[in-house]
Amino acid sequence: MPSLIDDIQAEQIPMEVYFRHLHQHPELAFEETESAAYIAGLLRQWGYEVTEGIGGTGVVARMQLGDGTTSIGLRADTDALPVPEMTDLPYKSKVAGKSHTCGHDAHTTMLLGAAQYLARKGNFNGTLNLIFQPAEEIMAGAPAMLGDDLLRRFPMDYMFGLHNMPGLEAGTLYLTAGPVMAAVDNWEIELTGKGGHGSMPERCIDPLVAGSALVMSLQTIVSRNVAAQDAVVVTIGAFNSGEAGNVIPQNAVLRLSVRSRDPDTRTRVLDRIRAITAATAEGYNVGFEIREGQPGAVLVNDDEQTRICTEVACRLLGEERVVNPGPTFMGSEDFAFFAQQRPSVYGFLGNGDTPMVHHPEYACDPANLPVGAAYWVAITQHYLR
Ligand SMILES: [Zn+2]
Ligand SMILES: [Zn+2]
Repeated sequence: MPSLIDDIQAEQIPMEVYFRHLHQHPELAFEETESAAYIAGLLRQWGYEVTEGIGGTGVVARMQLGDGTTSIGLRADTDALPVPEMTDLPYKSKVAGKSHTCGHDAHTTMLLGAAQYLARKGNFNGTLNLIFQPAEEIMAGAPAMLGDDLLRRFPMDYMFGLHNMPGLEAGTLYLTAGPVMAAVDNWEIELTGKGGHGSMPERCIDPLVAGSALVMSLQTIVSRNVAAQDAVVVTIGAFNSGEAGNVIPQNAVLRLSVRSRDPDTRTRVLDRIRAITAATAEGYNVGFEIREGQPGAVLVNDDEQTRICTEVACRLLGEERVVNPGPTFMGSEDFAFFAQQRPSVYGFLGNGDTPMVHHPEYACDPANLPVGAAYWVAITQHYLR
């Protein structure tokens, strides 16, 4: 029996054409209008029921075949980055200052390739939902699609995602049960005192001193409240207060990013930030406001479904090209919000020894396109059989 990858290639699905088109026309988060129109146009040609404008510029394509009652969602991301591409590729970005340096063009192409193959063969039984999600880079596309009632309008039992990863063996799939990517919470804390003349601190309440104490106290969370084997980062990346040496300022603003890899630890760390902020503010007699951003989410792969996907991948690629458990990352991914709602599996496809994603010289390995497409086909045929 020829392998599924060979079979997809024998069908002469022009994935390179889709890939080059998307690569040359990168669009930033929530501006993916031309990409969405291109994707939707192709999917309609192939017989999918296509809905556009979900979560802004998101596209969902649905196909139901046979009498199977299982429904799955395969998700690709579509947005590019505000990075000037510095490659010599013949299909280099045509848009100044923007590029597909995270490889979302390849993710989209893999899903399109699988979509075309599956529509042509018609060999699955159940409901297939193809989700082309915008704005992954700003962690906003998945929440926007969920907010647009994605799961009610397109019921799905399981969801799946895939990201290419430089530094991992090209053409090899890495699957890991449990937490695979970190949650990021971006918060702002404002301390309000009473400004005045620098010579008369007794008539003022100094938010700068309170803020300084708070910066130091927050550093104790990782060392004193988190187990040594548990990965957490608390970074105070901005501390803005005051202008002049002889003026006590009115307020101080701290900006934090907090990364965590375990949902319970995340809750504990955020609770400690709230408590330390309140106690420090009371101790220094300043007012405080904590502005909590979009809640972060740890990307947690479902144990049982990860085991199943690993089996499917081993049959597809051979055991030597499937790694479980694979590496996990402190970066973040908004697929995590889907994984909170449905049992999900998010895998990594090695991109070989290339510059890292987001680097201006990053280039996605086009040899991976049929591998990714075949993985999607194999997952579909396994779950919808
Ligand atoms: Zn990225
Ligand atoms: Zn990405």
